[in-house]
Amino acid sequence: MLFIVSTPIGNLKDITLRALETLKAVDLIAAEDTRHTKILLDHYQIATPTTSYFEHNQVKKADYLLGLLKQGKNIALVTDAGTPGISDPGYVLINLAKKNAVPMTVIPGPTALIAALSLSGLPTDSFIFEGFLPVKPAARRKELEQWKGEKRTVIFYESPYRIAKTLKDIAEILDDPYVLCARELTKKFEEVVEGRANELLQHPAITKPRGEFVVLLNLRIKDI
Ligand code: SAM
Repeated sequence: MLFIVSTPIGNLKDITLRALETLKAVDLIAAEDTRHTKILLDHYQIATPTTSYFEHNQVKKADYLLGLLKQGKNIALVTDAGTPGISDPGYVLINLAKKNAVPMTVIPGPTALIAALSLSGLPTDSFIFEGFLPVKPAARRKELEQWKGEKRTVIFYESPYRIAKTLKDIAEILDDPYVLCARELTKKFEEVVEGRANELLQHPAITKPRGEFVVLLNLRIKDI
């Protein structure tokens, strides 16, 4: 059986009892970065063997893991943070397992976009998640153009290296909307900064960014 297991997005205590039981019980853990996952496993004294399953080996490795699953092995799939398949490896293996009628289940838990959304105070009734925006400026700007008139809360992931450039593009293309940036969620330096995109460009969290960000915006909000 394949177990799709969510792991913490920062704070190691954010793991479910089912996740711990599963990681202990399976034959093998397929992890995005085995060294990173080892920190979690050591913390909870879990000695299950691990193997790597990451973006650049996922097609080949999915075949290998499928072979093991067909032999009756139990495998847990984890990534470095949060929920497998959410802007992370997982899709190829999960899709292959499904096509081959391998039994699967999910052990749900943290995911940064939902943590940020629930903390944001923005409308949660309807939202869209865009993953990571394109790295190339022209493609990124084209994507932002498509958000004009969007009524739902928009959520995406952004790196500290690009956050300022992205906010600048957002201010220009989307008429300086209300934006909320959540960084280091569940960690020591958790911080939420919000305001007009142009205002945020002056904020130390953006001028000297550290940690990864979840960015949310809602074009319907006029007054903060
Ligand atoms: N699978 C993960 C999930 O379920 O959220 C997402 C993995 S994606 C490769 C990593 C991105 O998620 C980061 O660049 C950042 O945008 C966001 N992220 C992950 N952990 C975060 C945290 N503790 N605080 C803020 N953003 C986080």
